[in-house]
Amino acid sequence: CGICGVVGHKNATPLIVEALRRLEYRGYDSAGIASLVDGRIARRRAAGKLDNLQAVLDVQPLKGITGIGHTRWATHGLPNEINAHPHATDRVAIVHNGIIENYEELKAEMVAIGRHFTSETDTECVAQLVDFYLDQGMTPREAASKTLGRLQGAYALAMIFTGHEGLLIGARHGAPLAVGFGEGEMFLGSDSLALAPLARRIAYLDDGDWCVLQPDNVEFYDASGQRVQRAVQTIALIA
Ligand code: GLU
Repeated sequence: CGICGVVGHKNATPLIVEALRRLEYRGYDSAGIASLVDGRIARRRAAGKLDNLQAVLDVQPLKGITGIGHTRWATHGLPNEINAHPHATDRVAIVHNGIIENYEELKAEMVAIGRHFTSETDTECVAQLVDFYLDQGMTPREAASKTLGRLQGAYALAMIFTGHEGLLIGARHGAPLAVGFGEGEMFLGSDSLALAPLARRIAYLDDGDWCVLQPDNVEFYDASGQRVQRAVQTIALIA
């Protein structure tokens, strides 16, 4: 399983598919992509191999410069298209590797205020929580940070937001996540292998960190919300 994200200036879909191919070795049972199309979230998902996702993309292409991708190793909910990531609301789309241990409690809280869930995953409560905080008037950063503070368990997360072209937020807690630095484009990936064709310079998030990526800028924050710097290393660029 693996996640990736792209924020830049060219069509993100082929870059995301390539990164997901490089994460195939980790094993997975389904895959999906979301990107912003005219500022709105659009998704393509498929059970099974990446070739199945590619077949969906061939029929229904996805173009956007801000996007996220996922290969899933199901822990909560069958490996079908409904449970495949990204999970999304009208306002946010999310990919997640790991397990949200307190998802039942969070889901119950969201259901109690009338929110409707469409999947059996633990992950969907993250999308619902972020959406809830956005609905209360928070910015994407505030909503993401507030949500992260409520999650227990292990996760690598990437999120994109309706109406926020050029914004990608990532988080790491018990599952690896790295940032790749490009020229006018930035990337998120589960490991340096996923990022190798995209970026020469990478930085791993420390455990508990979250990050805000824009095409020309990356900001790292630790679990307490303090702005921090993370060491950048140079890796071999694979053509
Ligand atoms: N727990 C999540 C799910 O079952 C994420 C699984 C993964 O790491 O791919 O959908």
